[in-house]
Amino acid sequence: MIRDNFKNFLDNKNCLKIICGAGNKDLKEITNLCALYATAGCRFFDVNASLEAIKAAKDGLKFAGKESECFICVSVGTNDDPHFVKCRINTEKCINCGECEKKCLQKAIRQSENGYVVNEDKCVGCNKCLKVCSHNAVDTYCYKISISEVLPPLINEGFDCLEYHIITDDENKIFEGWETIKKLYKGPVSICLDRSKFGNEKVENCLKKMKDEWPDIFIVQADGAPMSGGDDDFRTTLQAVAMADIVDKAGITPYILISGGTNSKTNELSDLCDIDVTGVSLGSYARKIVKEYIEDDNFLTDKCLFERALKIAKRIV
Ligand code: SF4
Ligand code: SF4
Repeated sequence: MIRDNFKNFLDNKNCLKIICGAGNKDLKEITNLCALYATAGCRFFDVNASLEAIKAAKDGLKFAGKESECFICVSVGTNDDPHFVKCRINTEKCINCGECEKKCLQKAIRQSENGYVVNEDKCVGCNKCLKVCSHNAVDTYCYKISISEVLPPLINEGFDCLEYHIITDDENKIFEGWETIKKLYKGPVSICLDRSKFGNEKVENCLKKMKDEWPDIFIVQADGAPMSGGDDDFRTTLQAVAMADIVDKAGITPYILISGGTNSKTNELSDLCDIDVTGVSLGSYARKIVKEYIEDDNFLTDKCLFERALKIAKRIV
């Protein structure tokens, strides 16, 4: 029944998914985002693959009184996919200039007794700190996920869709993870990839092979520039729309979500290009526009605060 509801929801072609972040373990942020956007009318939420994140999302949906109407997606991926990357600061190279702290939208960087540090739970691997540091004091590391270990308890807890992120140049890695998923999970799946590692033809072939092997709902999340920071212009969203165009033209699946550099211009651009999409996934942009509100400890208890954020959220829902 829930699967049928999910299919109907996708078939309406008016889908908005709020991405809390594949690597975002900030549970307060997940609860607040889900509470806010579910109240605003959004029904689809993406969280990291942990029991704590699913429970935090459910708490938010319960607050909104929408638990039974909403769908939760959990994200796993190949261990080199950029959605599972985090940054760290080398305190020996760091000169404590604070430039990275100013750039971090997640507020994951703070000054400690030992210099600037990154809070791993809040970091979503957007690389803004790395780009701004002129002292090479920031580097990245992969946040590893063992699909075979994380999936069984999450299946027991219950979720509605599994997202598999496959932005890697190693096809063997993609299909190794895919084999594990096929053994453990039956249900709606979403495959998230962009064109940064493969050309158009390889992207199409990879998706077609997976689609042929999947008996249930098969979504492609066409990614543009993952975690590009939430600027609200056509240029930021162009690559995501182009990727959706490739998937649409190839006729792989009727279910295409646009993500990665998505913003308030994404729908307009995909309509202008006459691309048949199921909807849009919003991550950095959706978090950025309500950031100052959802960070507040009183967000769920201060009605005025919640209402102010709700006005903003409703504009994009
Ligand atoms: S920008 Fe680089 S040097 Fe400056 S505080 Fe951040 S890590 Fe340190
Ligand atoms: S700027 Fe991005 S990559 Fe750097 S700490 Fe913040 S969230 Fe993580």
